[in-house]
Amino acid sequence: MFDFHLVFEACRERRRLLMNAPHLVYPQAFTFPVYKGDDNGVFMIWAGLWTYDTLALFRNVRNHRMHLGDSAREIEKNIEHEGLKAAGVFYDCSTDDARLTLAFLLSAVNAGATCVNYLEATDLLSDGKRLSGIHAADKSTGVEFDIEGKVVVNAAGPWADLVCKLGEPDIPDKLVLTKGSHIVVPRGRARTENAVPIISPSDKRLMFVIPRGRFSLIGTTDTYYNGDIDDPFATRKDVEYILEAANHALPKSHLDMGDIISTYSGLRPLAMKEGGGDVRESSISREHRIYHGFSGLLTIAGGKLTTARSMAEEMVDVASRNLEREYGIREKGPCITSTRPVLGTPLQESIDRTKAFSKEMRFDDEILCTLLKQGTDALEVLSLCDRDGSLAERLSPEIPYIKAQVEFAARNEMALTVTDFMVRRSEIFYTATDQGVSAARGVADIMGKVHGWDEKEKVLQTEKYVDTVTRSRRYL
Ligand SMILES: Cc1cc2nc3c(=O)[nH]c(=O)nc-3n(C[C@H](O)[C@H](O)[C@H](O)COP(=O)(O)OP(=O)(O)OC[C@H]3O[C@@H](n4cnc5c(N)ncnc54)[C@H](O)[C@@H]3O)c2cc1C
Repeated sequence: MFDFHLVFEACRERRRLLMNAPHLVYPQAFTFPVYKGDDNGVFMIWAGLWTYDTLALFRNVRNHRMHLGDSAREIEKNIEHEGLKAAGVFYDCSTDDARLTLAFLLSAVNAGATCVNYLEATDLLSDGKRLSGIHAADKSTGVEFDIEGKVVVNAAGPWADLVCKLGEPDIPDKLVLTKGSHIVVPRGRARTENAVPIISPSDKRLMFVIPRGRFSLIGTTDTYYNGDIDDPFATRKDVEYILEAANHALPKSHLDMGDIISTYSGLRPLAMKEGGGDVRESSISREHRIYHGFSGLLTIAGGKLTTARSMAEEMVDVASRNLEREYGIREKGPCITSTRPVLGTPLQESIDRTKAFSKEMRFDDEILCTLLKQGTDALEVLSLCDRDGSLAERLSPEIPYIKAQVEFAARNEMALTVTDFMVRRSEIFYTATDQGVSAARGVADIMGKVHGWDEKEKVLQTEKYVDTVTRSRRYL
């Protein structure tokens, strides 16, 4: 798409994330196969990989390597070898998106921000001259109240247009939403060495098989979305489309619906260019934009998770200029987030201690892996086990999380519901064979002790999680 600026910015931010959140952002190798008759031949792909490394200022995890002939076949044994001419290996990064977002939020709290979840802006307030705050509803208690603010920023992602309309009901939409669905299968059923692109035979779109521990993540689709913003899900059509492309690229796999452990869908809030018109979904730029509403509301939309930090920096700069112009309040100093590790970033000593304690407790590598993602907090989690030995038990023999991680999430990671823990603090929803349904009641019991739930609430919490899982299986 020749979006050089976006790739440059993403490469720069990726490098910063590797330094500032090393426990949550990992190098991920990709193998890009080139076949006889492909639209882009070996030379084009090679040129593309050189350009990619150049845009990363040759400071990517590693520079690319091009493998020709037999060497290409050696790298990925399970991809189609018929007509394979070359394979370029290049590097990107992988992350746990929910935990990365949580790390950003907890870092903000540590720096003095007040962060609240389950709080919805339901209206904008005005002092007669300008925007003066929001009316908010606490979804967990039903309590409503006003929050005053000299500047109001709308960063509501796919919901951003709805928030804009609170102040200007007739304003045209700024965003176009596209839905992306993924499936998760056991790694042994879609075995690849590295992440591998798969091209849909029906429309030639590019997707990926991404190995992740014992699992492979396959996707994503990219289709315009006009449905319920609160409830996107992977349809049967999405799942069949992904399976068709995966089986085309990995002919020995013969994947079918029965291999799927979980599916999930998300909405991309894409900033539509004026007069963008009739373009293919994947051709819409992932650049972000900042909009100044007539009501005074500042809205940021578009962009990528990778570029979230730089988007926030830009947004805060705009907000600061507003504060100075309108109220004479000056910013205290330049933004420091580009070089500041997120809260919980462990030093080697803390990693070594986590490993030593885990060994003492006889935790296997999978549990250790989930603990290491908690950075320095892993030691806090382990200290809960010291206090109460039963918290060192696994949630279930096949779920690599211990009970102490549930208690810690409820106490320290703003987990207010069983679904919060299963989907957004752990990966149980995505990777457990039954998506954690059989462990849900146990999680409710542990969280219930922290949040003071009675039996009725524990049952309700468990049922709500089971419903979340059931709804994610609507493709069946
Ligand atoms: C399938 C898929 C794959 C992707 N892959 C990548 C990738 O590989 N790399 C990458 O960098 N990016 C990727 N992205 C993009 C990235 O996930 C998004 O750009 C990013 O999540 C957008 O973040 P956001 O904060 O703008 O929106 P969100 O993460 O959606 O957050 C918006 C928040 O606003 C809240 N909200 C909504 N309305 C209100 C209200 N009235 N009051 C208060 N709060 C409200 C919501 O509850 C939500 O928490 C992908 C996206 C999708 C869907």
